[in-house]
Amino acid sequence: MRMEEFDIKNENLEFDETAPARSNVTVEQLNKFLKKDDTLIFYGGEPLLEMQKIQEIMDFFGDKLHYRIQTNGLLLDRLPLQYLHKIRKILVSLDGNQQRTNYNRGNGIYERVIQNLAKLREENYNGEIVARMTIAQEFPDVYEAVMNIIKLIDEGLIDSVHWQLDAGFYKSDFKENKFRRFITHYNESITKLINWWTAKMQEGKVYKIYPFIGITESLLKNEKTLMRCGAGYEGFAITTNGMISACPVTNGVKTFYVGDLNTPEKIKDMKVQGECLKCSYLNLCGGRCLYQNYAQLWPKIGNALICTSVRYLIDAVKEKQLIMQKLMDSKVISLCDFAYEKYFGPEIIP
Ligand code: SF4
Repeated sequence: MRMEEFDIKNENLEFDETAPARSNVTVEQLNKFLKKDDTLIFYGGEPLLEMQKIQEIMDFFGDKLHYRIQTNGLLLDRLPLQYLHKIRKILVSLDGNQQRTNYNRGNGIYERVIQNLAKLREENYNGEIVARMTIAQEFPDVYEAVMNIIKLIDEGLIDSVHWQLDAGFYKSDFKENKFRRFITHYNESITKLINWWTAKMQEGKVYKIYPFIGITESLLKNEKTLMRCGAGYEGFAITTNGMISACPVTNGVKTFYVGDLNTPEKIKDMKVQGECLKCSYLNLCGGRCLYQNYAQLWPKIGNALICTSVRYLIDAVKEKQLIMQKLMDSKVISLCDFAYEKYFGPEIIP
């Protein structure tokens, strides 16, 4: 699809019309940029449409790198097992139950993804499988969505879950009243979910619900954060034409280019700007999303409403901090239960 067909053009963004749909980056170019023990995330579009390229990269780099993938899960059964087993974390798009997933992604998608995950487990895949949910404005009940994933976690199919609000990515999908109603319902369901999550801790079980564990870990360790996904300082994307971008969703958006593969030593940092710098939640939020922070596709009131969800989530976790601390003191749970690998994809601030 050409860039002008997207509903994202505005004066804040500059586009690179030369970025091809399929990557023309070679393993030799990548080798100039990647160091031993770096983590390489296969990301798209849909990365499994480039299965040969994935295999070529993994054959070239072998054990030098750690591999992760973000996929819609439809072609997982086609990547040979010896490669799949080396990808130690698979983030797969599942929006809760069958109805939500198929509404967002098409009929039969949920069933196919579940089938592929079951097959993976039958083949003894023991890496982490993360359900990656989009919370659409039509379905604000994150509690119900997560509960559907929890069933899959209890069945051993999935290990963890995170989500992202479908908000602020396009210009025309902001309708103030609709979004206000969404935020009200969403926040109510956050309360329900965190109450359930902390009740389970009384039984010694800490479910890996990424937004909660990420914020909790920061609170318990008293740590500040930058952009939680690492965009702009720790995590970079290689665009299809070999540019280095601060954020993986910005292939073809020059605004986010911070370097190129020919001169990887010259990468610039890209920091959050604007309202975030004045916000008292910045050290726990990190700025939510670098793309949204720069693109500003929604009007100010829209962005402010998104931030009410961020602040609500952080406050909800803070409210439970004392309970969690007491459970740790009595050794029902431990700090390790909140440990997680940073910068491989799960949204900590949805
Ligand atoms: S809550 Fe909103 S304004 Fe505050 S740091 Fe996060 S994204 Fe920025």
